[in-house]
Formats: sequence, structure tokens, C-alpha cells
Amino acid sequence: MALKLHNTLTGTKDLFEPLEPGHAGMYTCGPTVWNFAHVGNLRAFLFYDLLRRHLQVVGYRVNHVMNVTDIDDRILDQAMHAGTTIGDYVKPYLSAFFEDMATLRAQAAEHYPRATEHIGDMVAMISALLEHGHAYIAEGDVYFRIASFPAYGALSRLDRTGLRAGTRVAADKYDKESVSDFALWKKAQPGDEQLGAAWDAPFGRGRPGWHIECSAMSKRYLGDTFDIHCGGIDLMFPHHENEIAQSEAANHQPFARVWLHSEHLAEAGGEKMSKSAGGFTTLRDLVAGGHDPLAVRFFLMANAHYRARIRLSNDALYAAAEQVRRLRDFAGRVRRSAPGPSEDQALVQRVAAVRAGYREALDDDLNLPQGIGLVFELIREANAALDEGRVGERGHSELLALMDEVDAHVDVIGADEPGLADEVERLIAEREAARAARDFARADRLRDELRERGIALEDSKEGVRWKRIRVGTE
Ligand SMILES: [Zn+2]
Repeated sequence: MALKLHNTLTGTKDLFEPLEPGHAGMYTCGPTVWNFAHVGNLRAFLFYDLLRRHLQVVGYRVNHVMNVTDIDDRILDQAMHAGTTIGDYVKPYLSAFFEDMATLRAQAAEHYPRATEHIGDMVAMISALLEHGHAYIAEGDVYFRIASFPAYGALSRLDRTGLRAGTRVAADKYDKESVSDFALWKKAQPGDEQLGAAWDAPFGRGRPGWHIECSAMSKRYLGDTFDIHCGGIDLMFPHHENEIAQSEAANHQPFARVWLHSEHLAEAGGEKMSKSAGGFTTLRDLVAGGHDPLAVRFFLMANAHYRARIRLSNDALYAAAEQVRRLRDFAGRVRRSAPGPSEDQALVQRVAAVRAGYREALDDDLNLPQGIGLVFELIREANAALDEGRVGERGHSELLALMDEVDAHVDVIGADEPGLADEVERLIAEREAARAARDFARADRLRDELRERGIALEDSKEGVRWKRIRVGTE
């Protein structure tokens, strides 16, 4: 196990060493369900998916926690305008989030804690902070006292002298001691009761701030100290700094040991990809625009390293769709072809070298684009070898193994094509009609055609069933 990850805390690529051998605990900042997730969020979520998949490939048992923020100012605002409670307001967006994750083939996390279901944990942590002088009450709100936590700013390498200088100027306007102090708890406002957004606490009825939820819920599911914390780069400051301050001040233990941040996704200027009023693009916009969700997944996950910025455009998505097609076509060709009579030893060695190189790239801070690059180079050579019958038993099984290894991350090869089911059903109906008409030659041709596409038919009492032919079961 030689996995290296770039730790924002140290600023270097470090060997990943979990607290408990063989186990990896990870907390990832999840969606705020005030609306549909935009593609920038989806990039971060698919980066989490890449990380959890590779941890599994390396051999770890993963405990992945992804919070769902179902209370914040935007949700309160929208619920009020809609004349409903926050619980009812978020329902469709919560379902939409899980639908988007399934459409994009993100593996499910082990836990999806919702903020409103963990208020008790937050109240307990705020009470501990008040008790130790890390928090104070001002006009019914509770604030974290940044001056009480000297390590504040270490993650984002914040210049604290600037933080203090800014403080004196603006502090008069606020009830808090320092302008950079942040809210842990907000006093209930008139109207919060009807929205279902107020809870009892020893320090007064109200609702939690956003930052405290991640500190409280990571503690609940992963303990005071855990292995990995991830988020988009936009969350590093102040959200992640605040999480560290709250958790370490309350628990007197180090918080997350490794911090990973994924970069921004920019939307190409001038190109209107979004149909939603908010001006941001959602998965639904892209699908409505004719893009294949698998191409969206591949683009977001594999086209650039997670720490590099990327730009979303129609052309980039078309290019990703073409790459997905090439991977699927090649994997399908290898799967369907029988090993040839002769074995090209040089090719066998090349495939083994690419398998090793692919794994090395992933172990090097999840460099999937580099790994995929090696695979595409090989595909050209392997196609030529298949044309010339130079792929024997060894080469064939090495190629199958490589494609399985790639699909353990990208998960686009074994995925069913959108619309495939309809197409298969149509061909099955045609075959049934041919059989009814006793045109058995045509029925057999249709069966062969399906087999060519990796679909096997089974005649049963209930009618014809079909299944995708998986590697090794042919
Ligand atoms: Zn968070």
C-alpha cells in the first residue's frame, strides 16, 4: 500500500497512513439541498467517489460520511416564500440529489447524516465550547471566539495579523467581539417556528450555524480524530478553518489528519448551458441538452486532475463522450474476441507495464488523467494486435484485467447505455415476431446481433429475459 495524497495541511504529497490499519474514515462536505446541485458541486462529489473507489482498490474498508445540509438561510428564505416548512421544502431537492448521484454512478456513502436530525450533537458541542471560553453569547446568538484558538488559519495559511487589524475597524457594527467570529447558534426569529426551524438549547431557542454541523456530525460517525476530510476548494476558508477550530477546541484532540480539496469548475463564457433561473448549470440541464450522464461523469472525473481547474463546455462533453465510447468499444471487442492462436510476448509485457503504470498514477494523488492516457495509448496498439491475431491467452486476460481495473474507477464500461433497454426490448420483440412467423433464420440473426452487443437472451416460462454478458461469464 503506497498511496500518496496531497494534504492541504502539510502542503505536500504524503504517504497515506490511516489510524486503523486497513480502514479509512472519510468525511466529505455534502450538498445544501436548497436547490438542484450545480456542476461545480458535482465535480467535488465525483472527486469523493474517485477517492473512495481508489481506497477500496488499494484494499481499505471505507467508512464514508457525507452530510446533507437541510437547514440554512437560503432554505429558510425559500420555505418562507413557498409558505411551507423547511422539511417539506427540501424534500424534492434531497431526492434530486440522490437521483443525480445514481445517474452519475457515484457509489453510495456509508452515511448521509442530515443536519436537522443531529441538533442534539451540535447543542452538546456548543455547550462544551461555551464552558471552555471558546464561545460567547451576544444578543441571544452564540459565536465562536477566534482569539481563543491560536492555530486558526493554519489550513488556508491565513495571515492572522490582517484578521486582527480588520477586526477593530468593523467590530462596532456587530454584537460579536470580533468581525471574524462566526455564529454557532442563531437565536430563533419570529416565523422560524412555523418553518419548523427552531430547537431548544440551554443557551436559548434557535437554530445551528452551518459550520457546527460538520464538526458535530463527523464526531458522531467518525470520532474526534479521523483520517480524511474532503471538500471543494471554495470550502477551505472559512468553512474548513471553522470546523477545525470548533472541533479541536471542543474535543481537545486533533481533527482530520488529511485534508483534500478539489479545484473549481468554470463554465465556458458565452455558452448558455443552463436553463435554470439561478444561472448555474445542473445535471438535468446537461441531460436535457443531449449529453450522456456517463460523459458528464467521465469529464468531471477523468479529464483533469482533481487539483486542476477545468472548464465545462459542450465540446469538452462531446470529447468525453467519444472517450467513453472508445473505452466501451475496446472493452467490448476484447470481451467478445476469442484468444488468437499466437501470443505476441512484447504486447503481453506492454499490457502488464500499462497496468502497473495505471495503478502507479492512481497511487500518486489520484492521477486518473495520467492513468487513462496510458490506457488510450495502449488501446491503439492492442486494436492492431487484435486485427492481426497476435493476442493469445495471456494477452487476452491481461487486457480484460486492465479494463476491469480502469472501470473500478471510471465505471462507464460496464454501465448500461442510456436507451439500451428500449433498444434491446425492440429487438427481442422483433425476434419473437420472427419466431411466431416461423422465420427461424431471422430470429437467430437477431439473437446473434444482440450477442455482438454483449447481450445474452434466456428463454424462460415468463418470456424472454436478457442480461449483459459480464467478463468471464461468457
Ligand atoms: Zn462541511
